[in-house]
Amino acid sequence: EEYTNSNLEKLLMEKKRIETLINNMSEPVIGIDENKNIIFINEEALKVSELNEVNCLGKPIQDIAVYNDLIRSLVQDLFDSKTASDKKSPLNIYADNKESFFEKEIIPIKIIPTGEDEMKLIGNVILLRNITTYKELDIAKTNFISTLSHEFKTPISSMKMSLHLLENEKIGHLNNEQRNLVNSIHEDSNRLLRITGDLLNMSQVDSGIIQMEPQSTQVAEIIQYAIQTTKQFADHKQIEILTEENHDVPFVWADKEKTTWVLINLLTNAIRYSHDNTRVVVSTNKEKDHISISITDSGQGIAPEYLSKIFDRYFRVPGINKGGTGLGLSISKEFMEAQGGSISVKSELGIGSTFMVRLIRVDKKSKE
Ligand code: ADP
Repeated sequence: EEYTNSNLEKLLMEKKRIETLINNMSEPVIGIDENKNIIFINEEALKVSELNEVNCLGKPIQDIAVYNDLIRSLVQDLFDSKTASDKKSPLNIYADNKESFFEKEIIPIKIIPTGEDEMKLIGNVILLRNITTYKELDIAKTNFISTLSHEFKTPISSMKMSLHLLENEKIGHLNNEQRNLVNSIHEDSNRLLRITGDLLNMSQVDSGIIQMEPQSTQVAEIIQYAIQTTKQFADHKQIEILTEENHDVPFVWADKEKTTWVLINLLTNAIRYSHDNTRVVVSTNKEKDHISISITDSGQGIAPEYLSKIFDRYFRVPGINKGGTGLGLSISKEFMEAQGGSISVKSELGIGSTFMVRLIRVDKKSKE
């Protein structure tokens, strides 16, 4: 009896120690058993969820989810594994008169009970990590990039205007050396404009202020516009842009401006990463509910190990210095997905690449 009592005392001490530890943690923690009843909830969790310990201990978590928003969003992941992929997006909680951001993690507790061999789930621990400081810094960074790139655009455009005037023979004659200088300033200012454009787009995507205005759009029209815009660059490298003669003109449900931006970006890449005197082919394909537009080049291609990374922000294939930002494809992906479309790539190193965008197909000029 003495032995059992002493063990019991030890166990109780241990339990108290763990309870105090959990209670004093600065991040919210909730524990539930295998029947989804709450077995512990620390003070921080009570504070952010505005709950009271007496009302939750021993109660099924789904009962509390009925009237508590925070618990509801946590419970969704617990019961529906499909939404679990969404757990990376931070939870936005308004408590204590301020807005906080949390990252949630649900840890399943599995043990092998004494005398058994099978692993058994005995509950879950829900952890919330407070990431408000990082989120605030991130928002400040996005605002900074947005203001800066916006402010840069006007002076760069006026520099381009002045260059245009300098090149005008009516104003004066440039000697060869001066012309070379003007050309290189021209190239640099184009590059600067592209970089600031990419940064501005990225900051708009980040801050959620990007507005998609999808409408019934003629595919041929946006393709032609994108080709016209990139023609000068293609001519510069003696690259021919070919399109299929297509009399059947499909319509897609797309934001004209953003989709054209994506096509220009893909065409610019195709030209930039191609050898001189080659061809870039733009083709369209009708699927049941979608229209796909493919841009194929016979350029340097992309090694298989980099294919899954090229849509990541700032990623550029190492060793290839062609003066980009590594943002174009990631913004293209965001633009395509925001309008229900997609973007994909197939590429073979040394042979060439095909970038394909898919958009929702509409049959009539306007979608009913
Ligand atoms: P960048 O401004 O560097 O072009 P992107 O996001 O548009 O940024 O592209 C990311 C990287 O993917 C590029 O740096 C390049 O290495 C690779 N890439 C993109 N398009 C092609 C292409 N058509 N052929 C070969 N490599 C490409």
